[in-house]
Amino acid sequence: MPTVYENYVNGEWIASESGETFDVENPADPSETVGRFQASTVDDLDAAVDAAVDAQSEWADTPGPNRGDVLKRAGELLAERKESATETLVREEGKTRAEAAGEVQRAIDIFAYYAQKARDLGGISKSPSGRNKDLYTKREPLGTVGLITPWNYPVAIPAWKLAPALAAGNTAVVKPASAAPTMTAVLFECLDEAGLPAGVANMVTGSGSEVGTPLAEHDDVDGVSFTGSTAVGTSVARSAADDLKRVQCEMGGKNPTVVMPSADVDEAVEILGAGAFGTTGQSCTAASRAIVHEEVYDEFVEAMVEYATDVEIGPGLENPDMGPHVSAAELESTLEYVEIGQEEGATLETGGERPAESATGDGYYVEPAVFSDVDNDMRIAQEEIFGPVLSVIEASDFEEALELANDVDYGLSASVVTQDLTEADAFVDRIEAGVAKVNEKTTGLELHVPFGGYKNSSTNTYREQGDAGLDFFTSTKTVYRNY
Ligand code: NAD
Repeated sequence: MPTVYENYVNGEWIASESGETFDVENPADPSETVGRFQASTVDDLDAAVDAAVDAQSEWADTPGPNRGDVLKRAGELLAERKESATETLVREEGKTRAEAAGEVQRAIDIFAYYAQKARDLGGISKSPSGRNKDLYTKREPLGTVGLITPWNYPVAIPAWKLAPALAAGNTAVVKPASAAPTMTAVLFECLDEAGLPAGVANMVTGSGSEVGTPLAEHDDVDGVSFTGSTAVGTSVARSAADDLKRVQCEMGGKNPTVVMPSADVDEAVEILGAGAFGTTGQSCTAASRAIVHEEVYDEFVEAMVEYATDVEIGPGLENPDMGPHVSAAELESTLEYVEIGQEEGATLETGGERPAESATGDGYYVEPAVFSDVDNDMRIAQEEIFGPVLSVIEASDFEEALELANDVDYGLSASVVTQDLTEADAFVDRIEAGVAKVNEKTTGLELHVPFGGYKNSSTNTYREQGDAGLDFFTSTKTVYRNY
């Protein structure tokens, strides 16, 4: 019998009124059920929103440092169970042990960071136009917020939405992705044990249509913070905007790394390999286009193929270089894009197939794929694949490389590999992306600086993480006081 997880509503673990559940499987061994979750209904969601609304003013009135203490304690509790949480994350999502440990640590650090921020909340004071007056601003919580999260960072993303929301005095309802909800439940166990008052944060599992849509549309929800695909995010943004809710959607990417002739090709390959195949290519910031100067193109392709064929694939618990896809559907989607690329006329240099069954059993594995001879207008160069597939595109000079890098609907993360400072600066200035990196992989983010995309990668309304992470969850009130 798998572990059964209930919804967390008003400080209690409760089953859905539907009486229905769904199972989450281990992508490295689909015969293993990792957990059983509530297939919730709109009534379950309504109960969670009611609890959050009821708890809001009391939580907002709780002094910031006291709110911070609860967050700090929750982070400490997660740290105490870091090893088991890491294993759970590996078994649920398929990441390697090293990737999962890094993500759990990220969630711990996020809680510590926003615990401190809960003390620092405040406004600004300005000189008023007149004697015996005060002119200042206050930061107030938005109210009750809906947080809708994806499966690919199933503990870090719920943490980076929940922690600033709660630090600022909001109450929340979280709807995790059905492919990987366990880690959100683990976060809620920590918050519960840390003494979070009933109703302040609630978790309801279930499908996007049964739980996600009603959460985005709910009249009593004041803001919706969503991370996921551009298709779903666009509909969430539309429904939230219908009643003028504050909305923030962080969505897909098609991230380029430009390689210039001054680069050390081996270093460029390391950067691209880590960016494209790390987390099995299932990062919104994963590098999926290598735009390579013609002078080093052949050398790069050869070395990149060598890198890809050396990637060791296996169950995340054995800590290989790369684990499986999260689900059969994600694996199928990647395999389909590999076919599309070949039909479009790109050259599949290596990978793109399921490895021999003897090595990896029924797990959802795919060998990392490298395509050369890719035109930027091919679907494999324009659409988010969300798997370990790298398209190599040739450019004749820096201007063309930059143009190709920007010629895409997405704009999340981008990098350039060069020893030329002028090129590096020009890239940073002119790349249309929310994250610009020099001599670094497109993945990997620091938690204390803003994160978000341009173009179709984001509603570009607010940024997440860092100080900016609090902006979405607060309203500014300007006070004119005449004494
Ligand atoms: P998804 O869009 O399928 O689902 C995201 C969440 O939305 C899930 O909880 C899902 O159940 C819910 N949902 C689905 N349909 C809904 C609806 N109609 N209304 C409301 N909610 C609904 O995304 P995914 O497959 O879970 O995650 C992968 C995607 O997330 C990729 O596109 C990736 O680039 C993106 N992502 C972006 C960032 C970022 O910060 N930009 C970070 C991680 C992942």
